[in-house]
Amino acid sequence: MLTILTGRDNKILRTPASRVTHFDRTLEDTVEMMIDTMLNPEGQDVTGIGLAAPQVGIAKQIIIVTLNVNDKKEPKILAMINPQIIEVSSNFSNYEEGCLSLPGAYGRVSRPAKVKIKWQNVAGNWCEKKLDKWDARIFLHEYDHLIGKLFIDYLNDKEIARLTKQGHL
Ligand SMILES: [Zn+2]
Repeated sequence: MLTILTGRDNKILRTPASRVTHFDRTLEDTVEMMIDTMLNPEGQDVTGIGLAAPQVGIAKQIIIVTLNVNDKKEPKILAMINPQIIEVSSNFSNYEEGCLSLPGAYGRVSRPAKVKIKWQNVAGNWCEKKLDKWDARIFLHEYDHLIGKLFIDYLNDKEIARLTKQGHL
């Protein structure tokens, strides 16, 4: 089990992650541990639906994304290595988000409603997919972690003040 880093000013959370170049057993182990940590975060009574490697102190471009959340379809957990955005839609959607690295903090974030992406799987093979709804949102949230960005960066001063006052930031 890995420890989840928290805090809006945590240095690792704010540092862009580097590309994965070795597709080996260590990567597979990391992915497995990240999935376990996401599903059962230590000291938190929530289950994550996404996790990025910097959140567990690993400055690499690795994200875990759960697809089909809030859908009738079976949820599917995917590990994406070196993810890239190919295209985003011009229409946005606005929903409330939270983050395992900012326990208790929630706020509405506007993001592109659809996104076309590519990534490498744990074997190093490139995959491509179009995502929408929560799939797109979760991906974009986790992708942001790889560039040192947190969802609260999209909130206005008033919302930040509210979360700070509530003791969540
Ligand atoms: Zn997050």
